[in-house]
Amino acid sequence: MASQRRAAPRRQDDGGGAAPARRRVLVAGGAGFLGGHLCALLLRQGHEVIALDSLQTGLMANLAPLLEHPRFRFIHHDICDRLHDAPSVDQVFNLACPASPPQYQADPVHTMLTNVLGTHNLLELAAGCGARFLQASTSEVYGDPEQHPQTEAYRGHVSPTGPRACYDEGKRAAETLCFDMLRLGRVDARVVRIFNTYGPRMRADDGRIVSNFICQALAGEPLTIYGSGTQTRSFCFVSDLIRGMAALMALPDNPREPVNLGNPGERSIAEIAELVRSMTNSASRIVHRPLPVDDPRRRCPDIGRARALLGWQPEVALEDGLRPTIAWFAGAGAPKRLPAAA
Ligand code: NAD
Ligand code: UDP
Repeated sequence: MASQRRAAPRRQDDGGGAAPARRRVLVAGGAGFLGGHLCALLLRQGHEVIALDSLQTGLMANLAPLLEHPRFRFIHHDICDRLHDAPSVDQVFNLACPASPPQYQADPVHTMLTNVLGTHNLLELAAGCGARFLQASTSEVYGDPEQHPQTEAYRGHVSPTGPRACYDEGKRAAETLCFDMLRLGRVDARVVRIFNTYGPRMRADDGRIVSNFICQALAGEPLTIYGSGTQTRSFCFVSDLIRGMAALMALPDNPREPVNLGNPGERSIAEIAELVRSMTNSASRIVHRPLPVDDPRRRCPDIGRARALLGWQPEVALEDGLRPTIAWFAGAGAPKRLPAAA
């Protein structure tokens, strides 16, 4: 049975304008693409960081520059299992879940359990030590949206039975757990709905569009457009996204509503293919492959709530974010084609 333990919420203010207080922060999914960038930001802000990860899709390479840091530590753990001897922390970021469709569909039952059991385990951990909690939710909670752009009030158009459901419905259930724990007064839980985000340190074999197109273009291989390429996405550079997540965690008052974070610059998939081809000076052909089942046709965030609450908006234009991303994939330090995720 779930524990009803609740610790008093820890002070989260920054000491009346003095230097920001140092906090102990747990980042679940810390070895992933976004998690590695978030751990680095939190260390730069002066916090103590504990990254926790099963390494299902994450890579220790994402944390390599942090491993020697005196305020950093790594725990190898699957959040579906209760964490015995859990560290006492001030804040918990839950990013633990594969984000790429081929990766979250590789073991769909585990994806669902990660979102439900895993999120519950971390919420209980936060309740036990009075920690503030931030859940990395997703624009996928809107499914194949009938409202455009998507505001947080839109309830979505999601298949509960299709191949994306383990992720979409799992993330919706995780949001439910967060808001129930908040209403019960057990955890100061906050939820960000992240729209497609890209940048250096994505895995070359990740399967998402930006990493696929860049790796294909750099290798002179055909760029694979699924379907006609008229479907759209809105791409946010990683530094913008991480800044927004940290801002919501730092907000003194819980908004008690989810917050969209993304870049409203909507592009078609065919446009992205042309842009990557031209920015890499690639002669790669474009080939079409079948559109995956339930692939959303359009996606664009309404970020009015993030602007109003956090004063947040993206600063990096797509071309400016693609440049360092391409340079990273082209660089010697970037992993080339990696073995498929376990
Ligand atoms: P990622 O796959 O690179 O990172 C996920 C990390 O979680 C990996 O390190 C993985 O090993 C770890 N993980 C997965 N299951 C786990 C488990 N059961 N226990 C412990 N660790 C586990 O993906 P990402 O792009 O960094 O995404 C991070 C989070 O942000 C995810 O929750 C994802 O749903 C969310 N998100 C990302 C995007 C995006 O565009 N990047 C968009 C929407 C939502
Ligand atoms: N996509 C594509 N070619 C690829 C990878 C993805 O055309 O090699 C398409 C995919 O069908 C979707 C869009 O690009 O319409 C974004 O896919 P991604 O997997 O990056 O994210 P998501 O579908 O979760 O938004």
